[in-house]
Amino acid sequence: MAETVAARATVREARREAAKVRTKLLSQIDERRNPRSRVTVNDLIDRWLDVAKLEPTTRQGYVGKIEKHIRPTIGRVEVGKLDAETIDSLYAALRRCKEHCGGRPYVEHRTAVAHDCAGGDGVRACGPHRCMPLSDGSIRVIHSILKTSLNRAVRWKWIAVNPISFVEPPPIPAPVPADSRRSLADPGRGVPGSRLGHAGLAGDGGRCPQR
Ligand SMILES: [Zn+2]
Ligand SMILES: [Zn+2]
Repeated sequence: MAETVAARATVREARREAAKVRTKLLSQIDERRNPRSRVTVNDLIDRWLDVAKLEPTTRQGYVGKIEKHIRPTIGRVEVGKLDAETIDSLYAALRRCKEHCGGRPYVEHRTAVAHDCAGGDGVRACGPHRCMPLSDGSIRVIHSILKTSLNRAVRWKWIAVNPISFVEPPPIPAPVPADSRRSLADPGRGVPGSRLGHAGLAGDGGRCPQR
């Protein structure tokens, strides 16, 4: 008899325990369904930079790209709403113009301090902005930053899937011969007119940005 009571008590206890566990799981699942829904790309990048193990020079390069090209464009997008289409559009915009001008004409001033736009006396005049594409190499670095930080967001259960898996990675830039690197304004571009030709590129090892 005593044993039956004890057994009943145990069953009741087990049920109570099971109910508790179930409630906890349900609340966790609920949290996962709406994971940190207000977290933005900027927040993710901040958290990722906090924990990522990066060589100092790599970090410096990444931060430069983040400040110049990621924060001003998609920084305020909620991570849960960031999709492949948005990232594709970002890359397309960067290929059109590295200043993300959106096609709006403006005057490119040579300095941020007060100055005479007309120039003269050896100082060049300020002129209308002309779009220059961001190099494939730089876009690949941005791709790598987004891919790595979004992978982290998946592991942290902020998002279920990494939208970057549906994005076509930017093409690998053609290798640039060492002696022409300095003279090219944008070394990530191809070098079809290189005077060294392909023979001169052999052994260059190719450029793998930030790796
Ligand atoms: Zn000016
Ligand atoms: Zn432009």
